[in-house]
Amino acid sequence: MTQTALKPLPCPFCGAEKVSVKEGTTYRWAYATCDECGAQSGEVRRLYPQSAKDPEVIADAIAEWNKRATPPPIKAGDISITMRVDDNGEPVFNFDGADDATLAPIVAAFSVAMNALMEDK
Ligand SMILES: [Zn+2]
Repeated sequence: MTQTALKPLPCPFCGAEKVSVKEGTTYRWAYATCDECGAQSGEVRRLYPQSAKDPEVIADAIAEWNKRATPPPIKAGDISITMRVDDNGEPVFNFDGADDATLAPIVAAFSVAMNALMEDK
C-alpha cells in the first residue's frame, strides 16, 4: 500500500502539529482535532463500516482540517503576512518582518482593501 503524504497543517489556534482523527457525532461522521487545544475540523462523511481509523476517512478528515489550518505566510520582500481563522470564523491577519512604523501604513492599506473586498460580497 502506498502512503498518502497528507500531513495536517499546524493548528490555526495554537500552532500545535499533532492532530488526531476521531469518531464524529454519529457513526456516519469523523473529524480531525488538535491534540493540544481541541480545535476541530468540520465533520466528514464515512461509509459504513469504515471507522475513523480507516486511511480513507483519515485522509478526508485531514483534508477538511487543512482547509481551515493556517496557510503558509505570504512574503512581500521582508514583510510576511499570515492568516488564521479566529473562534468566530473571521480571518485574522498578522504582519511581520518590519518595525511598527513601517508596517502601520501597509496594514492600514491592507485593511481598506480587505474591507472593500468584503463589501463586494
Ligand atoms: Zn490547537
